[in-house]
Amino acid sequence: MLTGAPRGTKDLMPEESGSWRYIEGIMKRVAAAYGYGELRTPVFEHTELFQRGIGDTTDVVEKEMYTFEDRGKRSLTLRPENTASAVRAYVEHKVYGQGGTARYYYIGPMFRYDRPQAGRYREFHQFGCEVLGSGGPEVDAELILLALQILREAGLKELTLKLNSVGCPKCRPILRQKLKDFYAPKLELLCEDCRNRYERNPLRLLDCKTCAPHREGAPNILDCLCPECRRHFDGVQELLRAAAVDFVLDPTLVRGLDYYTKTAFEIQYPPLGAQSAVAGGGRYDGLVEEIGGPATLGSGFAMGIERLYLAMENQGLLPQVRPVYQVYAAAQGDQFGPAFKTVTKLRAAHIKTGLAEAGRSMKAQLKAANKAGARLVLIFGEEEAQRGQVVLKDMVTGSQREIAVSTVTNTLQSILQTEVEQDEQC
Ligand code: AMP
Repeated sequence: MLTGAPRGTKDLMPEESGSWRYIEGIMKRVAAAYGYGELRTPVFEHTELFQRGIGDTTDVVEKEMYTFEDRGKRSLTLRPENTASAVRAYVEHKVYGQGGTARYYYIGPMFRYDRPQAGRYREFHQFGCEVLGSGGPEVDAELILLALQILREAGLKELTLKLNSVGCPKCRPILRQKLKDFYAPKLELLCEDCRNRYERNPLRLLDCKTCAPHREGAPNILDCLCPECRRHFDGVQELLRAAAVDFVLDPTLVRGLDYYTKTAFEIQYPPLGAQSAVAGGGRYDGLVEEIGGPATLGSGFAMGIERLYLAMENQGLLPQVRPVYQVYAAAQGDQFGPAFKTVTKLRAAHIKTGLAEAGRSMKAQLKAANKAGARLVLIFGEEEAQRGQVVLKDMVTGSQREIAVSTVTNTLQSILQTEVEQDEQC
């Protein structure tokens, strides 16, 4: 082999992609129930979008972006997340001019030059939702409930919702100063990253795992909120309580991306261990303006599909979705041609149909049919063909009968109807 897949990426073989489709199906159905429309943006964008949108001082922008120059000497970046692109699309298409609130969901690959480990990849996939044009606490609560509903429908039970508010441009400067005063005498003790963050992004000092021992007694973000941020945060909590959702207040939850204002949240699935965050998000009221649009309020979250897959796999919650034939055809002697014709008709009717290799013995063909796991087998015999008939065998009951070749599609459709209907729901 020339070389393997690049570090931090992986192939999805058909056995796994069936489970992925199942997971994506849950996501799409729940998003639709909340009135979200699918948004698909390019996988790469102008680098500037992420520098401006996510923030120059974030780990994602400083260390993790896949940035390259194209042949026209433009600096482009594989998207490390989808919020900045969603906001760009919202501004570019002047959706703000239509009035009302936009609700988007997306599913797709994201790219970060991260240190790969279980649950952390360089190419990974996120499902996410964004609400633009509405600033009430009910939007934040709606997003949290939507994310939780997906995780619950996926079958996960031990979920922890962590909630915080990171304030707004009015109250954050006060908090930043308090944090700087608190950490100033400890600067020497902090890790290199945090020493760099001290001036530029002191909030991030709160969520550094390495420096957690030096956090004891740090100013509590929730004590610094301005009255408006306080009201908003109380409103979110009230709505969550009314919906009987448990949550934990975590004043150290600041999240890695700079654009958050007010609500920040994370949903963890502790059995996953080190990478237990399955979803995270929050409000980003300044982002649309930052990207060049008119002042527009926004809120959203993203959920890691690989992590959800891992969590479900560990709990045995993934369905066995593998390509299985419903019908398999075997043909005697010169009957391969007519069999091929009927098989093509069945496939046109979306009946999953296999056909044994031409020229093999009937015994070998029936063995292949058995191995393929098809419930129904069609046997095209020379003698039956003269009467315009074909043998239909039910592998579950062992019974067999002759049916007219001209009625095969209709007969199989009515036998398989329930199976086909179930399948279409996935
Ligand atoms: P973020 O965009 O950093 O807020 O992350 C949102 C969610 O995406 C996380 O809670 C994870 O579930 C998932 N995620 C983020 N980074 C990675 C990664 N490198 N590999 C796999 N999943 C990730």
